Amino acid sequence: MSKFWSSMVKRTDPYVPGEQVNDATIIKLNTNENPYPPSPKVFAAIHEEMERSLQLYPSPTADHLREVIGQQNGLSKEEVFVGNGSDEVLAFSFMAFFEPGQTIKFPAITYSFYPVYAKIFDIPYEEVSLNKDFTLPHEQFFQSEGGVILPNPNAPTSIYATLDQIELIVKNNPEKIVIIDEAYIDFAQESAVKLVRTYDNLLVVQTTSKSRSLAGLRVGFAMGHPSLIEALIRIKDSFNSYTIDRLALVGATAAFEDVAYFRQTTEKICATREQTIERLNRLGFTVLPSQANFVFATHRAESAVHLYERLKQEGVLVRYFNKPEIDQYLRITIGTDEQMNRFFEKLEQIVNACSL
Ligand SMILES: *Cc1c(COP(=O)(O)O)cnc(C)c1O
Repeated sequence: MSKFWSSMVKRTDPYVPGEQVNDATIIKLNTNENPYPPSPKVFAAIHEEMERSLQLYPSPTADHLREVIGQQNGLSKEEVFVGNGSDEVLAFSFMAFFEPGQTIKFPAITYSFYPVYAKIFDIPYEEVSLNKDFTLPHEQFFQSEGGVILPNPNAPTSIYATLDQIELIVKNNPEKIVIIDEAYIDFAQESAVKLVRTYDNLLVVQTTSKSRSLAGLRVGFAMGHPSLIEALIRIKDSFNSYTIDRLALVGATAAFEDVAYFRQTTEKICATREQTIERLNRLGFTVLPSQANFVFATHRAESAVHLYERLKQEGVLVRYFNKPEIDQYLRITIGTDEQMNRFFEKLEQIVNACSL
């Protein structure tokens, strides 16, 4: 703390991301990255762009990328906003749509960035308790004073709320914005994007970081009514005209265009997820019903923090949250089959040694 800090800095409580390591021998199942590399077409597009035009500013409007994303979602580019990762899109959305002094709602167990944004932008919030089984009590989100934000599937629980439930939340907040953060939607049933043209108070936020293997490129996007997109563009243009660089623009565009590769890797991850759940069950874990590229699991005998620490000693990183209600759970990202085999080798040793 310094006397030179603004009150905004003083009230911040920054988000702490999962550990990032540079050791290739570590099995990294802690930050929900995609275990598969991006489409080869992404590399080709980035190489070509590098040789051509890095001395020039990128497009401030990102029209082409917005068009491609729009096309794939049955929308026009006026209904699509792109930003430097969906975290930036979410931060801009808090500024654009939530009002200091009006209480917003989000789930009590959820993406821990939301309270961070709420604090920095001085927006009061109510944390709505989940049901006992971690499902969403959707009626509790009706008639929010300031608006609603929630991830679907939820993080870190991996549980998906049905489109009907989401629609009810949107319908029952006609005067306020409902933001659905769909970081994991490509591993789940269906997106709320199909409701965007019906409800002008719905903003759907997605990212290329998970299902399109581009966490390192930083491209997220929002889809909603053109007037909502205009608000986000006004915020962006008041900070930085060029939030997405040239390599990110062409790389993300290529990733969207290679639909076959996207389908193949996404289906593979979902198949590995189902096997992972079965294997965890056999080892004595209870696993929440996942529609994401990670699972949330608790062991009937071993404490989660012990398992987390022992796995770490064995070179496997998973995510552990020391928070009430979820402190007996581990969040495990779905890796390749080979990574999961190595994970289970270690886990079996640890669990068997514990029960001796
Ligand atoms: C990963 C994640 C994000 C952030 O994604 P980026 O686009 O990489 O910034 C947003 N929301 C949730 C729920 C996430 O899990």
